[in-house]
Amino acid sequence: MVGSVINCKRCNKIFQKVTSNEHCPACIRLEEEEVTILYRRLQKSSADGGMTIDDLSTELEIPVETIERYYLEGKLTTGVMFLKTTCQGCGATIREIQRKGRFCVTCSEETANKAGVEVKHMQTIQKEEEAERRRQEQLQLLKKNQPTKTQPRKFGFSRSGS
Ligand SMILES: [Zn+2]
Ligand SMILES: [Zn+2]
Repeated sequence: MVGSVINCKRCNKIFQKVTSNEHCPACIRLEEEEVTILYRRLQKSSADGGMTIDDLSTELEIPVETIERYYLEGKLTTGVMFLKTTCQGCGATIREIQRKGRFCVTCSEETANKAGVEVKHMQTIQKEEEAERRRQEQLQLLKKNQPTKTQPRKFGFSRSGS
């Protein structure tokens, strides 16, 4: 709640919350600085085709989780154009331009297609599996009910008898 006293999400210090921000004024300033540094570094990296969060973290000594948070919160604004992230589908390094959410363009299209088809397939597969299970059960029952046949002795062959 605005106006209440809470612990800062970043440094855990108690402070009077005046906005919806859950960070204390000192941390807000610090975060703004970090965002600016990140943004500038990303802009600069455009010449090298962008940077990954890991690279940024190592170079600027800002934790990966913090950069990810800024990214998810949209704080890096147009800087994300030069942020390289990994596609959750194929693991390729992708830039904002080539990305759709957590996937590269290729994977996102494939996933969209698959997702649509898969729902239908799942239902068919489940039905088939159910049918197969029933068939196996029937077979088991048949086997049980069948009298166990002994070796046929119709012709009376006996190898030991000669
Ligand atoms: Zn703080
Ligand atoms: Zn991909």
